[in-house]
Amino acid sequence: MIHPWNADLFRQLGADPEHMPHAILLHGPAGVGKLELAIELARWSLCEQPSGEGACGVCDACNWFDQGNHPDFRRVEPVEVEAEDADAAPAKKAPKKGSRVIKVEAIREISDFLSLSAHRGGWRVALIHPAEFMNAAAANALLKTLEEPPARVLLLLVSHQPRRLLPTVISRCRKVAVPLPQRARALAWLAAAGMADPESPLAEAGGAPLAALAYAEPERAARREAFLDLLARPRQLDACQAAQTFQPVLAEAWGWLARWVHDLLAQRLAGQSHYFPGREGSVVPIAATCALIDLLAFQRELAQAGRWLRHPLNAQLLLESWLIRYSEIAGARP
Ligand SMILES: [Zn+2]
Repeated sequence: MIHPWNADLFRQLGADPEHMPHAILLHGPAGVGKLELAIELARWSLCEQPSGEGACGVCDACNWFDQGNHPDFRRVEPVEVEAEDADAAPAKKAPKKGSRVIKVEAIREISDFLSLSAHRGGWRVALIHPAEFMNAAAANALLKTLEEPPARVLLLLVSHQPRRLLPTVISRCRKVAVPLPQRARALAWLAAAGMADPESPLAEAGGAPLAALAYAEPERAARREAFLDLLARPRQLDACQAAQTFQPVLAEAWGWLARWVHDLLAQRLAGQSHYFPGREGSVVPIAATCALIDLLAFQRELAQAGRWLRHPLNAQLLLESWLIRYSEIAGARP
């Protein structure tokens, strides 16, 4: 399914199938429908009766594709590292057990698949998502295929963080930005999807509609409100107890705290809230009493912490230390 805000881009990309590039890198923020766009492009290029609007949806190829067994299509996603495994390292360090990575074996398999002739005599298509999860060996293996692509091959790379890709990989793809939709369009789509009050989830999601949809899930929304209530009263904040409550959802809590700190800074610097406009009643007075230099340092600290969030040594201690720091910064008396 193509999201309506990506429909024009989709038609542009598929307009000239005979001159399709052999590799396309779809990049943009998370939650704007890049993966769905890539899947639909794959379906279109494999369809046996395509139109200018996309795949037909009824031919054998479309049927196989929809059932997940088209012989000329492969999809690669990260797998969890089962033990400390130096070979899987995205950088130089061995990744931790439980972290996710696209390994070199998966990319070699794709390269072998792409070098065979197509079962149906048409295109062979491979989709890699998210491409930044390739480790160094995997990226180098992919580079070989990108340098000498077989005929009638389409490689689709989807990335939320293209800066983490090898520059040599990026330079061999046609780069296609998938931007945030216009706010009014995103709000209309969320309303049509049944969301009663799409404004605040869309703001929290930074304008990405699919992320907003996930954020509006009732249990998550209730957790967020409870967490923001704590942040709104920094002098009463019991960091230890709050950390105990929210450590099972560390990544969510980190996201809320980082956004809240962003809003405090945005209030200080520009007099507006970006992520939690409904909370300005609390954000404005807190922002007025914080030292700007402390807020900036805390923002940097939280941004760095984002990298190893998935596997903290001790989620509760980590969250508690952030909340203590927050109450020191935000709870200062004017
Ligand atoms: Zn078809």
